Amino acid sequence: MAQVLEGIDVESQAPIRTWFGVGGMARVLAHPADEDAVGRCLAYDPHARLLGDGANLIVHERGVDELVISLDRMAGVRWGEHEVVAEAGVNLPKLITECCRRGLGGLETLGGIPASIGGALVMNAGGAFGQIADVVSWVEVMDRQTRRVHRLERARIAFGYRTSGLGEHAVLRAGLALTRRDPGALRQRLLEVMEYKKRSQPLGANSAGCAFKNPTLTRDVEGLGAQGERVSAGLIIDRAGCKGLTIGSAAVSEVHGNFITAAKGGCAADVINLMNEVARRVRERFGVELHREVAVWGESERTEH
Ligand SMILES: Cc1cc2nc3c(=O)[nH]c(=O)nc-3n(C[C@H](O)[C@H](O)[C@H](O)COP(=O)(O)OP(=O)(O)OC[C@H]3O[C@@H](n4cnc5c(N)ncnc54)[C@H](O)[C@@H]3O)c2cc1C
Repeated sequence: MAQVLEGIDVESQAPIRTWFGVGGMARVLAHPADEDAVGRCLAYDPHARLLGDGANLIVHERGVDELVISLDRMAGVRWGEHEVVAEAGVNLPKLITECCRRGLGGLETLGGIPASIGGALVMNAGGAFGQIADVVSWVEVMDRQTRRVHRLERARIAFGYRTSGLGEHAVLRAGLALTRRDPGALRQRLLEVMEYKKRSQPLGANSAGCAFKNPTLTRDVEGLGAQGERVSAGLIIDRAGCKGLTIGSAAVSEVHGNFITAAKGGCAADVINLMNEVARRVRERFGVELHREVAVWGESERTEH
């Protein structure tokens, strides 16, 4: 192994754990335990891929040649009166539960979203009740080339719908501004949010949540909506007749059209091919372009296998 990675826990030909439960390996997977080690990983490969909880990720069987950096060892939390500082590897659901217990409100609206803090920030994870951007004060990132750490104040971060612009860096930690509230009321709200999610989404199946972002219509589309309106990708997929569609081991969920699921022991190429087929059918039927919410690694032009 290269000298620059000395002292860092590194695995070769390691499986990349994702919520799909299928897919390829990392040629090299590193688990840096501190900022200095992250810097050394980026010195080894400035194009390294950052892995969070793998809840929004599918990796083609072909695997990944770039270094994969998992921040699972950087999971410290500093508790303040109104601010929590969480490292990128902190598990979001566990943080939410602990915040509710301590009477710190603001994150309970994200109940039921599997994520690391790093992945949640990059994706601006959220849903019907809020998004993580709502509580972010600042984010510290490492520049891939210079390996310097920068603190980005909330106003300088381009948070939008399931986007933040932070993915070009390695996200290290964030300061979250929370509000003192009654722990019982927070727990109750968290349960309500999770109940809503359980009712509307197939949370038991292997998936990455929503496969596509909800598109904004670029023109009036009969039966869908008016120009400028953001419409549910699940609804469009349903209307395009894709619910229940399968390719090999991958299926469009019958519960929620925007969830693509992988059967146990299935293959990532099926999931990628099915996403492409759904996008093609929607384009053909409505002239609407669906953009993936799920990150795809190891894909090339040919996704058939
Ligand atoms: C059952 C289920 C339900 C879901 N429901 C929702 C929902 O309601 N709302 C929602 O928004 N999402 C939902 N998702 C998707 C997922 O939970 C979010 O996108 C989440 O933010 C992914 O975080 P992660 O840590 O797993 O990121 P990963 O999947 O590991 O990575 C996602 C992207 O972020 C990048 N990344 C991760 N960490 C870092 C870092 N530290 N620095 C730089 N880049 C990084 C990765 O390179 C990748 O491009 C759901 C997923 C599942 C499986």
